Amino acid sequence: MARTPIVAGNWKMHLGRTPAHELLTALRDSLGGIEGIDMAVCPPAPWIADAADVLRGTRIGVGVQNVYWESHGAFTGEVSAAMLAGVVDYVIIGHSERRHVFGETDEQTNRKLRAVLDLGMQPMLAVGELREEREGGRTNDVLRRQLTAAFADIERLPEGFIVAYEPVWAIGTGLTATPEIAQMTCADIRAMLAERFDAATAEACRIQYGGSANADNAASLVGQPDIDGLLVGGAALQAESFTKICQAAAAVAS
Ligand code: PEP
Repeated sequence: MARTPIVAGNWKMHLGRTPAHELLTALRDSLGGIEGIDMAVCPPAPWIADAADVLRGTRIGVGVQNVYWESHGAFTGEVSAAMLAGVVDYVIIGHSERRHVFGETDEQTNRKLRAVLDLGMQPMLAVGELREEREGGRTNDVLRRQLTAAFADIERLPEGFIVAYEPVWAIGTGLTATPEIAQMTCADIRAMLAERFDAATAEACRIQYGGSANADNAASLVGQPDIDGLLVGGAALQAESFTKICQAAAAVAS
């Protein structure tokens, strides 16, 4: 089945308002001619409105990096899925920095995922193993645990649901997984999705790879049969590198 690859940039907590605006404007121009893939940027929350303004009418979606599951209330500092519905196109859930820097649990990831799916929004569910877990041969156990927990009480996934496979040891380290390792693990994730849901759902899910993806390795990663795009951190902060990554993905998809 043909899955539309998706390349998304996770800006994390980088870029002030002016450089963020400059990057958005540059991307609006440089990504304009790219077809055949979905593209998105996930800026820091205060620049979401600017991103929506600058990118209106383009094929570049806007995402957020985090969400809270309650719809409203006394939850200082949090932003609900209900508040983001209609404002953003994508919601990153379970990013490794949320899990490992802020102590987000599998159960919290599940609550966020359910809130986002209930509103018909598009999550990007990030999963991935630590270096010691891979070295200890526990990668699939960890991924299965993260997926099983994230999908608790979820009966079905919308077509094109996005899982981001992000080995923690590859994020921000320059240690990109080889295309072979990334492919093998994404295939394992697809098999887990088939086990948990069904083969058709698993085939329709888009599995991104994330972890030091850049303009040089994008084509070989996206060229793998089970890798349906990239979640990009550092290389998403310059228009030139993010554009080259999107162009490489689009060339593979065509
Ligand atoms: C990320 O933050 O999701 C990520 C993959 O970062 P980097 O590309 O910098 O490794």
